[in-house]
Amino acid sequence: MELDAARTEAWLRAAAAAVTAREAELTALDTAIGDGDHGSNLRRGFTAVLTGLDGDGADRSPGGLLAAAGRTLISTVGGASGPLYGSALRAAGRALPGSSAGPGEVAAALGEALAAVRALGGAQSGDKTIVDAFEPAVAAFGAAAGQGLPAAARAAAGAAEQGARATVPLVARKGRASYLGPRSAGHLDPGAASTALLFGALAEACREP
Ligand code: ADP
Ligand code: MG
Repeated sequence: MELDAARTEAWLRAAAAAVTAREAELTALDTAIGDGDHGSNLRRGFTAVLTGLDGDGADRSPGGLLAAAGRTLISTVGGASGPLYGSALRAAGRALPGSSAGPGEVAAALGEALAAVRALGGAQSGDKTIVDAFEPAVAAFGAAAGQGLPAAARAAAGAAEQGARATVPLVARKGRASYLGPRSAGHLDPGAASTALLFGALAEACREP
């Protein structure tokens, strides 16, 4: 299986559905250690992504679709997560110039996406951010790429979820939650939780028929 335009579009639509269905949960997580807007930020951003997909004139290649979605997130989401996810999708899009991509190419593109998040946000693993779910997901995808796209995407989704859960005991060192210092411990990081949803959406879009 390859990541073609139809699967890329399915990924973005599944991501929009997931962040919309889980908006209240993401907002509750951000209310505990942030400002309570993470769910609404992502719902707004991905709703705009859907509007872009439904419009005509979009570049219907995997890279074009991801880059356009990234630009949309950057321009419609005010919070930290918009530019971070937007840059990630743009970087992944730039790394996928063809009409479809095999698991190895997708692994490399996801690596570029993670590098973009790191370059923009400066967070390391353990800082209680998006990176804590994104980094293990990219590693798991790469390790399972030889088993094909569905297996790699499933492995990435599982690793992202585990990485998100592992943020609970951490003290935040980046973003708004870091203002709380030690009081940020004991809560799931909202951005790591939404990263798990985005990788879950990729696994859904890349399921065996
Ligand atoms: P804001 O914090 O501006 O309100 P959101 O609520 O949409 O933005 O997103 C918050 C999430 O963004 C956090 O839970 C965290 O995972 C992520 N985040 C914040 N700063 C960084 C950073 N520097 N690097 C990576 N992720 C970050
Ligand atoms: Mg917030």
